Amino acid sequence: MRTTAKRSIVLYIILFCFLFGMGFLTWKVYSDGENWVSYGYNGHIYAEDAVVDLGIITDRNGILLYESEDGAKSYSENYNLRLSTLHTIGDRQGYIGTSLMANSFSDITGYNFVTGLNELPFDSFGTKNLKLTLDAEINARAYEALGGRNGAVLMCNYKTGEIICKVSAPTYDPMNVPEDILENEAYDGVFLDNTLSSSYTPGSVFKLITAVSAMENLSGWANQTYTCESEMYIGDSKVTCLGYHGELNLQSALGHSCNIYFAKLALELGGEKLQATAERLGFNGSFDFGGMTFKTGKVDIKDATDIELAWAAVGQYTVSANPMQMLMLTTAIANGGTSCDLHISSKDAGTGRIKLLERDEAEELSKMMRDTVQYYYGDYFFENMEVAAKTGTAEVDGRLPNAWMVGFSRNEDTPYAFVVIIENAGSGLGDAGNLASVIMNMARDKGI
Ligand SMILES: [Zn+2]
Repeated sequence: MRTTAKRSIVLYIILFCFLFGMGFLTWKVYSDGENWVSYGYNGHIYAEDAVVDLGIITDRNGILLYESEDGAKSYSENYNLRLSTLHTIGDRQGYIGTSLMANSFSDITGYNFVTGLNELPFDSFGTKNLKLTLDAEINARAYEALGGRNGAVLMCNYKTGEIICKVSAPTYDPMNVPEDILENEAYDGVFLDNTLSSSYTPGSVFKLITAVSAMENLSGWANQTYTCESEMYIGDSKVTCLGYHGELNLQSALGHSCNIYFAKLALELGGEKLQATAERLGFNGSFDFGGMTFKTGKVDIKDATDIELAWAAVGQYTVSANPMQMLMLTTAIANGGTSCDLHISSKDAGTGRIKLLERDEAEELSKMMRDTVQYYYGDYFFENMEVAAKTGTAEVDGRLPNAWMVGFSRNEDTPYAFVVIIENAGSGLGDAGNLASVIMNMARDKGI
C-alpha cells in the first residue's frame, strides 16, 4: 500500500508539473507570440522575397504607402512621400522601433493567436489592410517644405483626433537605403521619430506655460504689468529682449513675445509654482501613443537661481518640450481644456483624451494666441481660418535657433491644430510659420 501511495504522489507531481508547464507555455505564446514573430530579423516577413505578406497600408484617401503582395514589398512610388512617412510606416530592417511595422504588427499582418500568420478560416478579406488618418499629399509637401532641414511636423483635426500630417527629419529613402547610413553624421538620429521620441528647447512657445502659471497663481494677472527696457540685470548676468517694449500686460507681452515681462513674471511666481504648472500641463511625465509610452519634455527649476528661472520662463535654460506633447497641449487649448485622442488609424491606440487646463484658462490662452496672429504675425499666413498661435525662436549652443510654431484654427470648418519645429533654422515666424502656413492652407483647401 505504501509503495502505491508513493507512486501516486509522484504521478500527481509529474502531472501537476506537466499541466503547469503547458499552461505557462500557452500563456507565453499568447502574451509574447506577436513579439516573437515580429522581430526585425524574421526573414519570413521582412526580407525582399519573404513568404508572408505584410498587407497594405494606405493614407486616408486610399493612396498607397506600403504594399506587400506575393512576396513583393514596396513603398510608395513618390520619393517625398516615402521619405515623409518612413518613421510612421517603418523600415524593413526594423531599426525604427516606434513604427507601425514594428508595433502594430497584427494590424498589418493579420497575426492572431490561434493561427499565427495564417488567415483564420472564417476571416473576411481586409484584415491586413491598414488605412491611416494621414494625408499623403500634405505629408509629402511638409517634407518638401522642410527643405532638407531636420525637425518635426504634426497636424491633426482637434475635433476627431485624426493625425493628418506627421513628418520626422532626418529621414531616408527606404527603397534605396544609403550605404553609409550607420557611419555618416548626417544620419545621426535618423531612426528616431522626432515627433514622438525627441525633445527640443522650446524658446518662446514656453511662454504659454508661464502665462498659465500666472492665471493659476496671481489673482490680478489680467492687469499685472511689467516694464521692458530691453534688458534686465540679475546680479552680473542679464536677460535680454529683442525690443524695447515699455509697459506691457500679459496679452501684449505674449504678442510682442517680450522676454523681460515673462522673466519678471517668473521671478514673482517662483520656480516651484512654475514647475508645478508645467507638470500639470504634462511636462516631466509621459504620454501613450500606438501602445507605446513616450517621455514628455523636462522642466527642472525648483532650485534654479533667479537668472536660470528668468531664462526658463522664456523656454531657455534646461527646459525642453516634445512635439506630440505640445500637440496634445495645443488641442487642449482648442477644445476648452481637454486634449483630443490623437491617433494614426482606427486600429491603433491613441493618446487618449486628457484634461490639461481649466476651461477659463484654455479660453484665455485661445484669445491671446488669436490676438497674437491677428495683430502681430498677420492673418495672411492662414486665410479664413482664424488661427491662434505662438512662435518660438529657441537659442541652441553652436547652431542657428530652433524655429517653432504651435497653433490651431478657431474656425469650426477647419478644426486643425499643428506643431512645427525646424532645427538649425532662423526665426519661429519666418521658418516654422511658413511651413505651418503651407500645410494648414492645404488642409483647408482639401476640406479634410
Ligand atoms: Zn521686451
